[in-house]
Amino acid sequence: MPDQITVTLKCPVCSADPVTLITTDATLTGDSFARCKGCGHEFGRYLDMKSEARRLAAEFRDGGTWLGAYPSSFRNW
Ligand SMILES: [Zn+2]
Repeated sequence: MPDQITVTLKCPVCSADPVTLITTDATLTGDSFARCKGCGHEFGRYLDMKSEARRLAAEFRDGGTWLGAYPSSFRNW
């Protein structure tokens, strides 16, 4: 069981894979909104993305399959 899973995130709008995420906030907080650098698609709050990544990672660890809207998970978060 890996302690850490490195995964990538694909933009469902412009198909950037992996997507480069940006935020307009000078300081990244849990309430910062992450957007695709290429097309501006909003992925949601940093906090929500982190919890979703944890959920996906737990499913993966338990032998589940990736069923999220995005094909993998979150890089560097
Ligand atoms: Zn995009």
